[in-house]
Amino acid sequence: MKYASLFFLIFITAMLRPVPCSPEEVTIGQYLQNMSVLSPVAANSTKEMLQQGQHPNLPAESKFDPFSYIPHGRLSVPPGTRVIIFSPHPDDESIAAAGLIQRVLEGEGKVRVVFVTNGDGYTYAVRLRVKNARISAKDFIEYGKKRQEEAVQAMCELGLQPEDVTFLGFPDAGIDDLWESNWSNVQPFISPHTLFDRPHRKGLKRWVKYSGVSLRDEIESVIKDFSPDWVVLPDPRDYHPDHAAAGIFVLDALETLYSNEDVLPSKVLTYLVHYKDYPQGDDWSKEISSTGVGGYTNVSSNVSGKTLADTNWLTLPMSPEEVEGKRRALLSHASQLQMLSIFFRNFLLPSEMFGSLSLTQVITVPQEYAAFYKHPAIDEEPAGMVGKSP
Ligand SMILES: [Zn+2]
Repeated sequence: MKYASLFFLIFITAMLRPVPCSPEEVTIGQYLQNMSVLSPVAANSTKEMLQQGQHPNLPAESKFDPFSYIPHGRLSVPPGTRVIIFSPHPDDESIAAAGLIQRVLEGEGKVRVVFVTNGDGYTYAVRLRVKNARISAKDFIEYGKKRQEEAVQAMCELGLQPEDVTFLGFPDAGIDDLWESNWSNVQPFISPHTLFDRPHRKGLKRWVKYSGVSLRDEIESVIKDFSPDWVVLPDPRDYHPDHAAAGIFVLDALETLYSNEDVLPSKVLTYLVHYKDYPQGDDWSKEISSTGVGGYTNVSSNVSGKTLADTNWLTLPMSPEEVEGKRRALLSHASQLQMLSIFFRNFLLPSEMFGSLSLTQVITVPQEYAAFYKHPAIDEEPAGMVGKSP
C-alpha cells in the first residue's frame, strides 16, 4: 500500500512536470542536408553560421549594429514585464522576437505567444511533404498540427512552457479575407485548404467562426486575459497579407480595449518579416516611411501610410547566448527549413528591431483601414451575431 502511494506520487509528479524541450531533435546534419537541397554554397555559409552563432557575413563583435543605417533607439526591457506577442504563422515569433522573449524571461517577466493561424495553407510545402499530386484537406490539417508541435518546441527552446502558447486556429492565407470580405458571422470564410469555416480547438465558443468579428473578439479576449504591459504585433506595412491584416486586427482590438479602459499596455511594438530586403539590406528603410498597410506605396492605396510614417524604431542587441537560443528556436520549425532556411538565416542577426507605435497610431490605423474597405461600422455587430448567440 505504502509503495502504491509512493508510485502514485511519483506518477502524479511526473505528470505535473513541465514538458521538457526534447521531442524531434533537428540535428545540424539534417539542417545542412536541407540547406544543400537549395544550394551547396549556402550550406557552407550556414555551417559557418551554426558554428559562430550568427550570420556569417557579419563581424564577430557582439557590439556590431546591423541597423546602423537607420536612426533608432535601444529597447530596454524592465524586470517583470508582461509581453504578449502575436504571430501570424508558426515561425514568425522566432524570426522576429526570439531575442525579446528570452530577454523578458531573463528579467523574470512573463510572455504569452499567440499564433493567429496554424500555417496550414502552405500548398507548396504540403505537396513536398505528402509527395502526392492529389492533396486533401486532411493533409493540410495534419500539416497544421505538425507546425503547432514545432512552434511549441521552438518556444520551449526559448524557455517558455506549452501553456504560454495560444493557437487561435484562424485560416492561413485568409486573414485579410476576414477583414475585407468575411467580417460578419453570417458569411464566414471557408478555408480552401482545410475546408474549415471555424477554428477547431477545445473549449471554443460555438459562435466563433472564420469571420473578422470573431477574430477581433478572440484577440481582444486573449489580451484582456493576459493583461500585458507590452503588445507585439506584425507591422501593418508587411507585404504578406496575413501579416498586415493580423497587425490591423490586433490594433483594432487594442483600440476597443483602450476606449473601454480595460487594458492599457504601455508599449505597442511592431515587427517586419516580409518587406523588401529587410533585414539584410537598407532599401527597406528608404521606403518604409512612405508605405501604407500591406506594403502599398501607390498613393490611392496608401492606407495609413502617413499615420505610420514616423515610426520610432528600436533595437534590442542580443547576447551570443540569446542569438544561440534564437538559432535553436528557428531550427525547431523543421518543416520550414527546406523552403526557408536562407530566409531564416537572414534574421539571425545580433539585434532584433521593432517599431514603437504611439497611441494615436494605434487608434487611427484600424479606423483608416476600415474606411478604405468601406467596412460596416467595425464596432457594431449585426443583430443576433457574436456575443448574443446561446
Ligand atoms: Zn508569416
